[in-house]
Amino acid sequence: MNGLRTRENFEREEGERLAAYAVKSAESRGRLVDEIDHPHRTAFQRDRDRVIHSRAFRRLEYKTQVFVYHEGDHYRNRLTHTLEGAQIARTVARTLRLNEDLAEGIALTHDVGHTPFGHAGERVLDGLMSENGGFDHNRQTLRVVDWLEFRYPDFRGLNLTQETREGVLKHGCEWEHPVPVPPVRPQRSLEAQVADTADEIAYINHDLDDGLAAGILDFESLAENRLWREAFESTSDKAHRAGGSIERAQVVIELINRLATDLVETTAARLTEAVPGSVDEVRETAGSFVGFSEGVEREKLVLKRFLYERFYNHPRVLRMTRKAERIVGELFEVYQTDPALLPPRVRERFETESPVRVTADYIAGMTDRFAMEEHRKLQDPHDLS
Ligand code: MG
Repeated sequence: MNGLRTRENFEREEGERLAAYAVKSAESRGRLVDEIDHPHRTAFQRDRDRVIHSRAFRRLEYKTQVFVYHEGDHYRNRLTHTLEGAQIARTVARTLRLNEDLAEGIALTHDVGHTPFGHAGERVLDGLMSENGGFDHNRQTLRVVDWLEFRYPDFRGLNLTQETREGVLKHGCEWEHPVPVPPVRPQRSLEAQVADTADEIAYINHDLDDGLAAGILDFESLAENRLWREAFESTSDKAHRAGGSIERAQVVIELINRLATDLVETTAARLTEAVPGSVDEVRETAGSFVGFSEGVEREKLVLKRFLYERFYNHPRVLRMTRKAERIVGELFEVYQTDPALLPPRVRERFETESPVRVTADYIAGMTDRFAMEEHRKLQDPHDLS
């Protein structure tokens, strides 16, 4: 015994520590291409690491959450959003005795298919691709991990486990995909649902935080929302007296805590009542075990609507959204009319894949700044670079 912990140790520990309805790495349905197991990492730890080391993951740093990067260094981008979501997913999964590594891996993967400029870029590409199968960031996430990363000699993509792949696929899919898609079941794994909900908790809160920091949102109008008001009222007097960024941070922390606590308590109660005896039993049960209590769910929707109306559609944000739409649309137009402008490694794929899809992949992979720069170079006759 040399003190080293092996994959077998971790797998055994999962068997002892996790709930019956948690996904166990030893029982993974495997990868599309068979590989030898790692001596010290479980299958899901390995998935997580592959995603972190991927190119698409690094690009998240320069992709929009709400604000484009030049708005300021303190606002969230897709990468920090992803990390905040993954952190919440880990806590929630651990508390519910679910597989923390799997939930973390799914959370870290979930946004790698995002276009530049967030949902604005996605909407434009979807419209432009309407005759060719459309565009959806979830589906693109699966394309990235299954097809668009080039790191291994034996396969394209990252060859992740079925469980992680199933986890990032939110909706069913009738669209074509280069490799077999994980089957859609009445309910996804609890780890996948935890990753989704953690994503939601993360973005609601950090968008509120960024919106307040930018002076677009204010405490007065937020007080209309019950969840916010309760978080505000239970924030310490000391924090209120301190005001400014301390008060704002403390209310947001309180709100994250309240949402996460409601989520684990509600989910645990549902699981105690239904007692699914296995992962397969979860998969075959329609609906979702992971979720908020009725009251919190209702107020959460009100809060999301509030963000939509007052923040995402605020003139200052909308101004960039419109520019982003133009940039993505015009790039697509230019490459469609004159594919010779695409880099050779992209154009080469035209021989075996649909040119319009390859073009969409190329644009979707761009960071905000690359897209802006590329657009400028292509449009400005005086730019000679
Ligand atoms: Mg997200």
